Amino acid sequence: MQLSRRIEGITEGGSDGWDLFHRARAMQAAGQSVLDLTVGEHDRPTPRPILDAMHAAATAGHTGYTVAPGLPALRTAVAERVEARTGVPTRAENVLITAGGQAALFAAQMAVLDPGDRALHLDPYYATYPGTIRAAGGVPVTVPTRPEDGFQPRAPDVEAAAEGARTLLINTPNNPTGAVYDRATLEGLAELCRRRGLWLISDEVYDTQVWEGVHLSPRALPGMSERTLVAGSLSKSHAMTGSRLGWIVGPEAAIARMADLATVTTYGLPGFIQDAGLVALSDPALEAEIAAPFRRRRDLARRVLAGRPGLRLLPAQGAMYAMLDIRPTGMSGTVFAEALLDAHRIAAMPGESFGAAAAGHLRVALTLDDARLAEALEALATFAALTAARAGASA
Ligand code: PLP
Repeated sequence: MQLSRRIEGITEGGSDGWDLFHRARAMQAAGQSVLDLTVGEHDRPTPRPILDAMHAAATAGHTGYTVAPGLPALRTAVAERVEARTGVPTRAENVLITAGGQAALFAAQMAVLDPGDRALHLDPYYATYPGTIRAAGGVPVTVPTRPEDGFQPRAPDVEAAAEGARTLLINTPNNPTGAVYDRATLEGLAELCRRRGLWLISDEVYDTQVWEGVHLSPRALPGMSERTLVAGSLSKSHAMTGSRLGWIVGPEAAIARMADLATVTTYGLPGFIQDAGLVALSDPALEAEIAAPFRRRRDLARRVLAGRPGLRLLPAQGAMYAMLDIRPTGMSGTVFAEALLDAHRIAAMPGESFGAAAAGHLRVALTLDDARLAEALEALATFAALTAARAGASA
């Protein structure tokens, strides 16, 4: 039977860009040991106090239906957190609780795109972006960023693609590049959104993982709160990826309509998960504890990779990744990643998996304990140096 063009079109067929990841997992399943630096997931479980709260809430009976837009107490807690961090007045009515940041991104695109609308997003990008836009009926349009700019977007590049666009989706701190957008960059993008009447969708799921500079939410810029939808989540900040707890923050009228979407999709999130989310948000020490290893490992990556021939570590200002420019090896990111997996059983994602702008790069998730990460980076650097030397000799 024929399926809808909408659902067939989400991936547009072909490879999902995660071939290397699937191969690494198959090798592990076959009993081979692989140093896995592919997925942005913590190498630790959710903190104990959050799990205890989840268990207590579930056993106390908070296991029935909840209200679709999210528990009022949690919406209020998110609003207070957002207001405290950004200075933008935010009430519970500005917040919709969603099944993770991913459902927040989908809700945002659904809320503002009509079928066939052009939706801008930057390249490199988090893997689900084009599919999320297509699922909401939009047409994804990529705007390249450049390694020589540390992957900070340039407003004129966005301008060049903006004709007929309805939305711009940005992500800072950024996956995969580790860039934290600076104030001038965000002001340029905000000015463009205001002038062109674009909605800004701001993916801020890594906002607690900033190692350099400061995280600025563009919703706080002048004239932006009425046109910005911010996606947030406890996945990365509290090691709660499996709990699927996130939110979207935006103008009250938009949030009220998105609550209709929650009614016809998730019908609300589990009460015991939301109660645990309240505990997570109530103790700042928890997110500091989760963020600390990634800062330490970012510093470790800098030390191990400094001055090594064949690769260059991009600034890695935030998030849980290190982006390596491996173009001196003469290999594409894909060929390099495959060869590294074959030679050293080290799995890292080719830049090409995140868009054409990351070609010749490798994304290393800083998700192994420090000792094994150092071992993997050392082997990776030696491999890059040898490959670059060979490329130089044959040139
Ligand atoms: N946005 C970015 C940039 C991500 O890297 C991820 C997950 O890796 C998400 C959104 C979705 O996160 P979640 O749905 O777990 O909150």
